[in-house]
Order: sequence, then C-alpha cells, then structure tokens
Amino acid sequence: MTKIGLEIHCQLTKLESKLFCGCKADYRNLPTNSNICPVCMGLPGSLPMLNKKAVEKAAMISLALGCKIPEQISFFRKNYFYPDLPKNFQITQYNAYGPTSIGSDGAISIEDKKIRIRRIQLEEDPGRLVYEGSSEKTQVTLVDYNRAGTPLVEIVTEPDFESPRQVRLFLNVIADLAENLGVSDPYLDGAMRVDGNISVGQGNRVEIKNVGSFRDVEKALHFENTRQRSLIQRNISVAAETRHWDEARKITVSARSKEEEQDYRYLPESDIPIIGIPQSKMMELQTQMPESIVTKKERYIKKYGIPPQVADVLSSDKFYSDLFEKAHTEYNAKEVANIITTDLMGVADTREKKLGLKITAVHLSDLADSIISNKITRNSGKIALQEMINTGKTLSDIISSLDLGNVSDASSLEKIIEEVFKEEERAVTEVQQNPDTVNYLVGKVMRKTKGKADPSITLEIIRKKLSI
Ligand SMILES: [Zn+2]
Repeated sequence: MTKIGLEIHCQLTKLESKLFCGCKADYRNLPTNSNICPVCMGLPGSLPMLNKKAVEKAAMISLALGCKIPEQISFFRKNYFYPDLPKNFQITQYNAYGPTSIGSDGAISIEDKKIRIRRIQLEEDPGRLVYEGSSEKTQVTLVDYNRAGTPLVEIVTEPDFESPRQVRLFLNVIADLAENLGVSDPYLDGAMRVDGNISVGQGNRVEIKNVGSFRDVEKALHFENTRQRSLIQRNISVAAETRHWDEARKITVSARSKEEEQDYRYLPESDIPIIGIPQSKMMELQTQMPESIVTKKERYIKKYGIPPQVADVLSSDKFYSDLFEKAHTEYNAKEVANIITTDLMGVADTREKKLGLKITAVHLSDLADSIISNKITRNSGKIALQEMINTGKTLSDIISSLDLGNVSDASSLEKIIEEVFKEEERAVTEVQQNPDTVNYLVGKVMRKTKGKADPSITLEIIRKKLSI
C-alpha cells in the first residue's frame, strides 16, 4: 500500500509586513535586496518583533482545518546553514514540550477520505537563490533576500493519502480555503510550495522537496510510486533520502541523504516570548471567519435551488462566488449561477483573465433577468455576455447594437414559421405523421431568426398550426 504525507508551505501574501520586521510581505517585483533590514538579514544585535496579524491569520487557517489551538504558542530556531538563510537558523515552531505550534490535531475530508492534520506552524520564508541557467550547471549563484522573513504557514498532514490524485484534490481544497479566508493568494508564483513524502509497503520513506505546481506534485508522486514499487519487486531496498523533481525530465532525482530531526538542533527562540492566546481572542477570531466553502455550497443549494455540481464549482472559486454574491437577487440566483459556471468561467479561467474582465455584477444581473423574462434567448445571451466581457457595454446597448432582441411577438413569428413551412414541405408532412420530429422545424425557425426566436413560443405556434 502507498502512503503519502504532505508538508505544504503557504505564504500569507495578504499581510502588510514580514513575520518579524516591518519590511513588506509582498516582496515580488521589487529591485533585488531592497526589501531588507537588519532583522530579516539577521545582523548581530537585531531583535525580532512578532507580527500579530500573522498569528491571527495562521490561527484562522488552523480553525478552518479543525485544528486545536493551544493557549500558548512559542517559537524555535531550526539550525542549518544555507546561503539564503542569513541567520543560519530559521525561526519556526516545534512541539518539543507539548503542542505550542499554532495548530495541531485537525482533519478534513476529501471525497469521504479523512485526512488528518498533524500540525500547523508559523514560520519565516528564507531568501531566494537565483542561478544563471539551471541550478546544476550554474557558474554563479546570486542571493536575493527580499523574501527572507515572509510569513509562511506550514501545514503538515499525517501519511493518510493513498494516491497522488487524492493529494492533488486536497491541495486544491487548501488553496481554495486559503483564498476564501483572505489570508493568501495561492496563485501567485511561489505562494504555495509542497514537499511530499511517500513510502510503499514496508519500504523507507522518500521525501520530494519543494515542488511548485500542484500538477507537478501529482506527477512527481506518481513517478516515485512507480519507482519504489519496481525496486521492491526486484528485492532492492528503497533508500531513505530526499529527492528533487526534475521538471524537464519528468523524473525525481536523488538530492542528498535525508536529515534527521536531531540534525536541526531545535532550540527555543529566546528572543520571542511565549505568547498567550486568550479565549476571548479565539472567540473574536471565530466571529471574523468568513463563511466556509462547504457552508456556502449548502446555502446555494438550499436557498436558491442551484444544482449541487454548479454550487460546488461556484462556491470553491472566491472570485466568482464574490461576483455571484454581488450580482444575484432571489429571483435570478439560479440563472446568474448558470451563466457564471457555464459561460464566464470557461472564458476567464486564469487570474489575469479574471482581473481583465470588463463585466460587472450589474451586467450579469441584467443579463440573467432578461433571459428569465424571455427578452432574449439563452443563445443571444451568450453573444451578449461575450460583448460585455470585451467592451463593458450595458445590456440594453448591446441588444440594440447587435439586434439581439427576442422575436417573441406572435405575428412576426407566425410570418417566419409560414416561410419555413413553405421551404420545408416534406418535413411538415413528416411532422404531421410523427409529431416527435417537430424539433427539426423549431430548429429551422431558430436558424432563420439567428437564435432570437423564443423556442417555447415557436413550438406552441407550430403545434397549433399543424394541429399536433
Ligand atoms: Zn526586514
């Protein structure tokens, strides 16, 4: 049996400042080594000052994942030498004397499979190494410390996953959850990074470090699963080691023998006091928690009768569920959900495209109302939506400029239907003998009106005229 556990590093990108100093948490797009100070550079004599908001946001993630939050949290130094770590230790959390990390002992379910959360800890991100070319062939390695000290939440699961696919589903849930809580934008480059550990049967555990995309996590675990199985079949033991995912070759490669926990010589961080989290603070955080994705989904189904699959897709995307909340009324909720999930999501599925959309909540609400009241057909609605996305024009402008108004008044429809009857004499005879084929004629009318005829009124008139 395959067992997989994860360590997910999620940057708290929505914070203003780093974890222990006033430098910007948003280090992206800044000149290299400009977002630094004595604290995040680890200069002698500098002292860390803990970011209160970071503790609160990490606590919210813990609550959302059903973790226990201790009454007191503390920090530890994880010692190791690496050029991106100027202090030669990382300030993190460690449950050496009972649980003092921001969360522990939680669980969430993925497709009825319970995934236990062992621990959630708050820690600082190291700096970033920049290579000339690839990391193996480079002659020069540069260090950019802008990222050093950025607040991270590390989520450590128990080895409860049985397949790489489950892992990917879980990661999507975590990303949605972090986004929904407003603590992180998981789609920023490097905002979520994953280490996976995997073992097969009684074999040793192999760790795969620092994979940047969820798709690659799934591929790397899949590769590793196959590699370990084939070693075991040939009676070769699997070495306990850390491996890297080689994106270009789509394989994992041995990186180094795995450090043991004692190699890090965890020491209590004496520059940061033990911090109490009073019950009153916990209550306050509970009330600030936004509606969870699961509750939101249930509300969409129960209150508006939105089909479960549509509600599922809509509730887990923060951008579109926010748009839905602004656009819908009790009257048009179902139609708004339908337009967003069937038409809009397909057009704008990336962050850039979403942000580039010119459509507003008012546009969307108007469009849904017009479709429900038969002012335009669903088909014309699709054309109007595309035009709104591109131009930001109002629905009434688009209907008149593109002539999308519905042909639903009986007299003009009747005229068109008569024309179709003349052109399709054989089909008319057939429909009279076999009324089930009537949709052919409706289709012809739709084509003649370029999709603007109301299909149900068209059908009604045809039936009446042919007495079927
Ligand atoms: Zn700093």
